[in-house]
Amino acid sequence: MIEKKAIIEAGWNFDNSYARLPKSFFTRQSPAPVGTPKLVILNHELAISLGLDEQALQSKDAVAIFAGNQIPEGALPIAQAYAGHQFGHFTMLGDGRAILLGEQITPLGERFDIQLKGSGRTPYSRGGDGRAAIGPMLREYIISEAMHAMGIATTRSLAVVTTGESIIREKEQPGAILTRVAKSHVRVGTFQYVSQWGTVEDLRILADYTLQRHFPVVNDVENRYLYLLQEVIKRQAILIAKWQLVGFIHGVMNTDNMAISGETIDYGPCAFMDAYDPATVFSSIDTKGRYSYGNQPQMAAWNLARFAETLVPILHANQDKAVEIAQNAITEFADLYHSNWIAGMRAKLGIFNEEPDDEALIQDLLSIMQEYHADYTNTFRALTVDKLKDSSMFKTAEFEQWYVQWQVRLSRQQETIDAAHELMRSCNPTIIPRNHRVEESLESAENKKDYSLMNRLLDVISKPYAYFPEQNDYYTLPEQSTQPYRTYCGT
Ligand code: AMP
Ligand code: MG
Repeated sequence: MIEKKAIIEAGWNFDNSYARLPKSFFTRQSPAPVGTPKLVILNHELAISLGLDEQALQSKDAVAIFAGNQIPEGALPIAQAYAGHQFGHFTMLGDGRAILLGEQITPLGERFDIQLKGSGRTPYSRGGDGRAAIGPMLREYIISEAMHAMGIATTRSLAVVTTGESIIREKEQPGAILTRVAKSHVRVGTFQYVSQWGTVEDLRILADYTLQRHFPVVNDVENRYLYLLQEVIKRQAILIAKWQLVGFIHGVMNTDNMAISGETIDYGPCAFMDAYDPATVFSSIDTKGRYSYGNQPQMAAWNLARFAETLVPILHANQDKAVEIAQNAITEFADLYHSNWIAGMRAKLGIFNEEPDDEALIQDLLSIMQEYHADYTNTFRALTVDKLKDSSMFKTAEFEQWYVQWQVRLSRQQETIDAAHELMRSCNPTIIPRNHRVEESLESAENKKDYSLMNRLLDVISKPYAYFPEQNDYYTLPEQSTQPYRTYCGT
């Protein structure tokens, strides 16, 4: 009786629209129970916005849900099928270690997927154990919440539980499960799966479902599937521009890791760039730099082209015409991305209006930053607070010359210098989850079960544009390391 009460009081309110789609889209699958679950972090603010009771969510029975040991009423657990191009190679994938419990309907009537990641083997696990280690799950929690705080569309993290079981990676590690919240888990790879192994009717069903869920169609749209393609392209252009503007490197932009909703998804070997260099790669497996910082816009366009291909059978009755429609839509990505990026860059430099030479001004700064290995975030921070002392770049003749040009540019606009700095403060994050700060908090959580560093980090990164003095420790850089920073796939 108590158990049931705790679950109901927690406010779970599930629908299962994805599970009503054709059977081939998923497999009914319960999470595999774990030994001794323990809640190590709960996202209070997110819980409240989902209509959940943060107190009730901390009860033993409610925690059992985050561990996959209990299924809340109304949930219908499934593993989703999808495919994907991984580093350019097409393959069948699917939720190999994740279970979708269902869709939480919030008090405002919004719909969010509630997914357990690390919840045991599924028919799509291939050789994997279906489990996740605590480090990568806490990492996803930290980075996704940092992205959210910066105003970048992302899946979010509701909770992490440890399972009380060890899992084997390079060394034995504590197992953990992340509860991920997403507008949906429909990926480019979901369309690829249906396009490859389903019927045209299946494809239409998936496209209609996605339209209804993410892009409710206005009646006068002539070609609804073209509309879907264009809207997905638009959202990705906005998303990738935002990544570039804050120096975020996803690390594994495979087509299965691109969400149709336009949210950043699947935080594996991602990180924020320190010194500005378009060739920056953090992922240990990205040896050719396919997903380097500078390549991200092109890779997004490549993924969107794969998405467009899947829609060809439903874009037009005439296949040649359909291909032409798809190609035309894809070519729009470059301009859309560029206009979002340059608008963001102008704002980062306090520029309100448009002048033809702005792009050259921006590129000149980036070139100087690259030449002097200037820290990306801290350079814009220094320009914002107008304290040019932390980087040797600021003392160079090149920079001084650029600075004069920039000041002249600012003086040509109507807005005051104060207004320019106000604008800069609103879009240059002073705080990003610095790699060394993330690592130290994960190390402490993993090895000492001490979550205080992580909680402090989460608090600081929740206000990236605040410019508080108490954040100072979090923007200073570590001592120069001789080893390049490396991140490993989310295992
Ligand atoms: P990712 O690199 O996280 O995007 O995952 C790629 C694919 O590998 C997805 O189908 C995952 O479900 C699957 N996968 C990753 N880790 C595991 C694991 N430990 N056990 C089973 N499947 C996994
Ligand atoms: Mg993935």
